[in-house]
Amino acid sequence: MKKKALIILCTFGIIYISVVFTYKIGEERKRIRCMDNIEILEKAKMRFGATYGAGLGSKISMKVLKSYIGEESEKLRCPCGGKYILNEVGEPIICSCHRQENM
Ligand SMILES: [Zn+2]
Repeated sequence: MKKKALIILCTFGIIYISVVFTYKIGEERKRIRCMDNIEILEKAKMRFGATYGAGLGSKISMKVLKSYIGEESEKLRCPCGGKYILNEVGEPIICSCHRQENM
């Protein structure tokens, strides 16, 4: 009887650990994808600034930047539904969902 209880306990333990790890890996993947998006947006922001003479401290709207990037920009969304805050040229782009990790 004790052996059966131990097997059940171990099984649930393994399932629990698997679920936790799967969740954490999923979250990490989303965070990495978000960081990749931010990197693309950041490079586009700098290129836009250099092309149109928008120097440090200039403000660029997301609409303008997305039209500059083109169709690709539609894929640049935070997997967690976060909103990208562009900030001024020279300031880092922040995701409202992954804010902490960006700092
Ligand atoms: Zn994000």
